[in-house]
Amino acid sequence: MVDNMSKRGFDPLTYRFEDQIPEPGRMTEVAKDVFWVRMPMGGRLNHINVWALRDYEGWTIVDTGLFRPDVQDAWRNLFNEHFEGKPVTRVIATHLHSDHTGLAGWITQEWDCPLWMSRADFFMCKVMAADGPSDVPEDAIRFYRRAGFTEERLDRYRQRFGQFGANISPLPAGFVRITDGQYLDIGGREWRAIIGYGHAPEHVCLYCPELKVIIGGDQILPKITPNVSVQPSEPNANPLREFINSCGRFREMLPPDLLVLPAHESLYQGVHERLTELIDWHEVALEKLYDLCAEPKRAVDVFPALFKSKITDMSYFPATGESIAHLHCALERRMLSVEEDDQGVAWWRQA
Ligand SMILES: [Zn+2]
Repeated sequence: MVDNMSKRGFDPLTYRFEDQIPEPGRMTEVAKDVFWVRMPMGGRLNHINVWALRDYEGWTIVDTGLFRPDVQDAWRNLFNEHFEGKPVTRVIATHLHSDHTGLAGWITQEWDCPLWMSRADFFMCKVMAADGPSDVPEDAIRFYRRAGFTEERLDRYRQRFGQFGANISPLPAGFVRITDGQYLDIGGREWRAIIGYGHAPEHVCLYCPELKVIIGGDQILPKITPNVSVQPSEPNANPLREFINSCGRFREMLPPDLLVLPAHESLYQGVHERLTELIDWHEVALEKLYDLCAEPKRAVDVFPALFKSKITDMSYFPATGESIAHLHCALERRMLSVEEDDQGVAWWRQA
């Protein structure tokens, strides 16, 4: 997640439950049988919102927080003090990122219950968690060199590589697949799975028409735009096209008056307005990118078209991935063209 808030002069969203933020280890009921839990995280984004749903004789948990002792303590407190003596009967992870899947393995093992996810995210998560620190593949180095990384940055990439698994407790061998359009019966209510693209391979959102609630994960956040990145695992991908298309599709499918339960920041109403803002934000960024590429630029030169804040060491990788995502989208639209120099660095310019 990188800081690229909408620059609109007003905020068309209505925030809800802002005075009822649950402390770690506690929960707030935000719709019938739907409870808001907040888990601590490091960094600027210091929390994740996860959800506990009453489900017949037990609880379904949606997203889990990171694999950290303080998050485990908070869950233990919920299990012991707030779950009415009932077991966890299912864990759902909206997508593969470690703040969502971190304790999925631990909780499913503690309660001997299944993990439900999209297929692409389950396997991608397994693959990424299996990467060890010494496995840095040469094509990944080539990918970042092409983006304009210096040798020093490449070294930092080598050092960081293989750390994804450290924030995730080991996943179970198998899972229950969630597909687009599938109905899940949670405690006698229908929740429809809607898959979004661009931020993760197959990001699951869960929409309950009866409650007029959608669990949005990272796909529809209120204040920040989710990171949409090209990564070495799929170097020619165009995830921004997929993300923009998903926003349009969600806007067509969903009624306007939903309560959105996002993975970060406040609960809100105004899902259509937010989806429009997300599309607009990226469209404006593409235009700024086009202007910036009047002179040839590398991926690492175009941050000013996308980000207001200074790119730090921590945000350099997601910022690079997000820049490439915008460059690929502009390339497919024939706004930009690209040429590689004899060092293998890609230079982008107006077509
Ligand atoms: Zn995410």
